[in-house]
Order: sequence, then C-alpha cells, then structure tokens
Amino acid sequence: MPELAYLNSRFLPLSEATVSIDDRGFQFGDGVYEVVRTYRGRPFELPAHMQRLEFSAHSIHLSLPVDLLDLTRVVEEGIRLSGFQEAKIYIQLTRGVAPRDHAFPIGRKPTLVMTFREIHPLAQELRAKGVRVVTTEDPRWSRCDIKSLNLLGNVLARQQALEAGAFESLFVRNGVVTEGSVSNVMAIRRGALFTAPTGPAILAGVTRQSVLSMARDAGITVREEALTVPDFCSSEEVFLTGTTIEILPVVRINEILIGSGTPGPITTKLAGLFHAATRG
Ligand code: PMP
Repeated sequence: MPELAYLNSRFLPLSEATVSIDDRGFQFGDGVYEVVRTYRGRPFELPAHMQRLEFSAHSIHLSLPVDLLDLTRVVEEGIRLSGFQEAKIYIQLTRGVAPRDHAFPIGRKPTLVMTFREIHPLAQELRAKGVRVVTTEDPRWSRCDIKSLNLLGNVLARQQALEAGAFESLFVRNGVVTEGSVSNVMAIRRGALFTAPTGPAILAGVTRQSVLSMARDAGITVREEALTVPDFCSSEEVFLTGTTIEILPVVRINEILIGSGTPGPITTKLAGLFHAATRG
C-alpha cells in the first residue's frame, strides 16, 4: 500500500498531495498539528490527541473545519485505507490559503492535511543501552503548550543534539529543565518520578500523561515539579517520553553519567508496562 494523504476532504496518494505556496502554514507557520501512532492498526490515545488538537486550534483562534467525531472517523478511515499496522499519522491544520498578510484572512477555509506513513521504530540498541542528551537554553516563545507549526527552536535544538553526537536536547528555561525538543523528560529521584508540570513552558505530552498514570497505578510517587540541570544529572534514572520514541532511557546528560550509565529498573519497569498497554 502506498503512503497516503488526506487533503481537504479527500484521500489521495501522498506523492500527489500538494498545497498552495500561499498557504499560511507555509508562509507564517500559522497552524497547529498532531502526531498519532498506531499499534496493530489501532490508534493509541486518539481521543487525547484530538482534544489537544482542538485545544491548540482554539488557542490560535482557529476553528476545526469538522467536529472531533468526524475528524476521528477520517483518521480511522485513513488507517484502514493505508493498511499499515504500525503507522505514523500526521495531522496539520492551517489558517488556509490567502495572499500574504499577517492579519487573519477573511472568508478563507482552513487547510486540513493528514499523512499516513509506516513507522520506522527506533533501533532496539538505543532502547537497550539508553541515549545521551545535551542541555540548551530554550529560545522558544511563551506558549509551548500549543502544538504549533512554529518549530524553529525545536529544529535547531534537535540538530544541535545530533551534531554533538547526542539523541536529544533538553530545554532549560529560568534555570529548570522543561522538556526535550521532541519529547518530555522525566527523572527518578529516591524512587519518585519527577517531571515538569503542565503549563505554557511544555507541551502536555499524550505519552507523558499515559506514563504518569501507569506510574501511579504501579505505586510510584509522581511529582509534577521542575528540576534543575544538576538535579537531573544527580538523578538515579532519567528517560524521555513521546509518541514515536515511547519511553527512552537517558544514560548521559552532557558529559555526566546518570546512575550506573545503564537504563535503570523503574524506567525498565515503565517501559514494560507501556509495551503491554500498547501491544499487549
Ligand atoms: N514535547 C515536544 C516539544 C514534542 O515535540 C513532543 C512530541 N510531540 C512531546 C513533548 C511529546 O508529546 P507526545 O507524547 O504527545 O508525543
């Protein structure tokens, strides 16, 4: 089955889907998006992704062109048509096509785009050994809770990590670690799980929420409190969460080894619970 796109009410091969250069997503990054993945042909936490899309759209004064139920049906139909068992679904909504002017265009329809691609899982070795991350000052705006198309700060930070031979950059804002460029980040300290609280400094990750509930159900104390870089570096365990990376152990921050330098027992336990919830 070829990779599939959905563009303004119809499905078509991805290679045939094109959007005008006057689209405000292209001109201004004036839009929002979601990334959903499927396990065995079923979308994981789709309602949570749909709600976050609605939140992001409303936060930039953009109405969804269809209601959430219809949007959900389109996603499910795309999964069926694509035939992929393990798919990565990208959903993007922009303020539509209009001559370039910063002010909202009048009487224009939003552009709704989706792509359905097979997901390429992370190398098993990365999960088994854990990854290195670097820290960087957060250059982004004050509404990181909106899943906006404006990803330049994230793009530069991820590239900085890769060029430093690391997997991810952790953003530091006002002296505390907020999140990664493509992930949320959590630490284990004295057996309790710490992660930055939701609010404008982070994207409220769908995986973050799932992992926090799994941790609570497993009797692990969860503290939604931000930590400094030295706090993270002196934690017993650190890991990243995200839709495509799931739970990924961090074994080194900058040049500092975390714990024994191998994935820790709580991370491994949570990864096992997550695996069971998604593939069990
Ligand atoms: N923060 C940022 C900046 C991200 O890009 C992502 C990935 N979408 C996340 C956190 C994790 O969010 P989720 O678990 O919903 O994929």
